Amino acid sequence: MIGILYDEGERRATAILKGFVCSWNRCTFCCFYEEAAKDLDDLTSTAKSIIKKIRDLTIKKPVDRLSFFNGGSFLELPWKVIDDLSKVTKQKMVDVESRPEFLTMDSISRLYKVLSPGKLVIRIGFESVNDSVRNGLLNKGISSYELKRILGLRDEVKNKFNDAIEFVSYVLFGIEGIEDESIVESVKEFKKFLDGVIAIKYRRYHKWMPKEVKASQELLRFLRANHIDVDMTESKIWKINHQP
Ligand code: SF4
Repeated sequence: MIGILYDEGERRATAILKGFVCSWNRCTFCCFYEEAAKDLDDLTSTAKSIIKKIRDLTIKKPVDRLSFFNGGSFLELPWKVIDDLSKVTKQKMVDVESRPEFLTMDSISRLYKVLSPGKLVIRIGFESVNDSVRNGLLNKGISSYELKRILGLRDEVKNKFNDAIEFVSYVLFGIEGIEDESIVESVKEFKKFLDGVIAIKYRRYHKWMPKEVKASQELLRFLRANHIDVDMTESKIWKINHQP
């Protein structure tokens, strides 16, 4: 879906913007390109309407946290749009997503300066610490060198920004071909070196996508016991408007 959702309990708005098709667009489990903007006008007008919705929402409800999704990397949005979004992000906890290649000290510093959030959480779709799962099965195109670079960058960023910026990794589960042991290993490793992990239940939208498998009770127990955020992808934000 494109639009916003509000969580009363968490005082949090989730905004799904349109971006251009992700520059990688080759992960085996992803069809976010189907909701991508047709052109720059489509992208900017969608962002403007979402900013208005957030503003209207903040008049009626308390919003402490804003989570942005744009079907790719936030840093692939035009800076003009990021600049516009800063009208609603100041002093809030802000979540964005990014592929590692867009993350450098310079890009993060600029993003932080423009958005002026209370806290910035950068979510990265590593999905697995295991190279053959990440780049074989899932075709993420993220080398282990790149993964290590981000772990180092995270430490530098945290030093510079006094913990005002956090790095969180997604870990994918419920997809054919990834064993529970591999998911547990990914969660443990990312938890050790990053600020958090979000376990995402894979959702299959098309027959050409990998098969879904039911998550085992043991795995769910492990995730709960380790206080991992689990997204079972049941929220409306996961509903994709498929292009004909
Ligand atoms: S990097 Fe993200 S948006 Fe891009 S293809 Fe992979 S899962 Fe989809």
